[in-house]
Amino acid sequence: MKNRHKQIQDWYKTHGRHNLPWRTTTNPYHIYLSEIMLQQTQVSTVLERYYFPFLKKFPTLQALGEAPLDDVLKMWEGLGYYNRAKNLHKTAQILIQEGQTHGSAPTLPQDIDELIKLPGIGKNTAHAVATFAFKKPVPIMEANIKRILCRLYALTTPTDKELWSIAYELVDKRNPFDYNQAMMDIGSLVCTSKNPACARCPLQEICQGKEEPTRYPTKKKRLVPTREQHIMLTVYNEKLSMVQRDGKFLHGLWGFPSTEVPLCASEYIGEVTHTYTHFKLRCKVYLYDAVDKKEAYYFTPKEIHKLAISKVDEKILKLYLDTM
Ligand code: SF4
Repeated sequence: MKNRHKQIQDWYKTHGRHNLPWRTTTNPYHIYLSEIMLQQTQVSTVLERYYFPFLKKFPTLQALGEAPLDDVLKMWEGLGYYNRAKNLHKTAQILIQEGQTHGSAPTLPQDIDELIKLPGIGKNTAHAVATFAFKKPVPIMEANIKRILCRLYALTTPTDKELWSIAYELVDKRNPFDYNQAMMDIGSLVCTSKNPACARCPLQEICQGKEEPTRYPTKKKRLVPTREQHIMLTVYNEKLSMVQRDGKFLHGLWGFPSTEVPLCASEYIGEVTHTYTHFKLRCKVYLYDAVDKKEAYYFTPKEIHKLAISKVDEKILKLYLDTM
């Protein structure tokens, strides 16, 4: 095992992405934020558009927890999966309260069980924060690492329990930080989903799946259903009516109201589509010129640009502006 760890560490020294900002900090909040942003989002997107502006706006857990949720959602706009932003905000508020009880600044706990109790922190995120921020000798289990483990042991349909047990056996307890970062980099740079580069992989000697790596794991075919909505753009005095969403989906964002049946006097102006992980949304958009103020909130397009809105509502606004 020592040899194997050395090969991984040597590979990481030469090929690893050491300059990623969340790898050059020891600040637990920055590391935690990066872990949450990187769920479902590519490194380049987080790096180029979200990580630094978010930290500039909310440099500490204290600043994050004290900010209005609307401001947090605005900084998250376009990243999707807005529950992540809501949970970050809630976690910061919980940690502020705990800090006040102990007379200290808010900080993340080091213990994995305590981390998992916080909103939006699952097993993998708790392990990632524990190992990257606090150097705990534990493995992590993001998608790239799952794929490597399946290929190393030629597993087609392993359970999470099996994978965690293998991961615990393999982790380098003397240098878990570099080991886990290296495994993530091997997964995204070498053991890629399509066309893995086995010839330059530091794990090739022990890999049982290298003859036919793309067999592992078995890919599940997913059919994505399409949902349809009628969106009613009610215009009054050159302003558009909007609502703040309160359901589970698109939590707290502003959006254009949907309707079961479009008003007879409304005009169909086109359609926009947006694909989410679990479904495709098709919105038929109608325009209605109101003679009096029917809804509670109206905004000009310029004002809407300052609100936190979803990608699909951005597309609807663009459709509206293009038809004007
Ligand atoms: S040898 Fe090939 S299949 Fe095995 S871990 Fe390395 S890149 Fe992946």
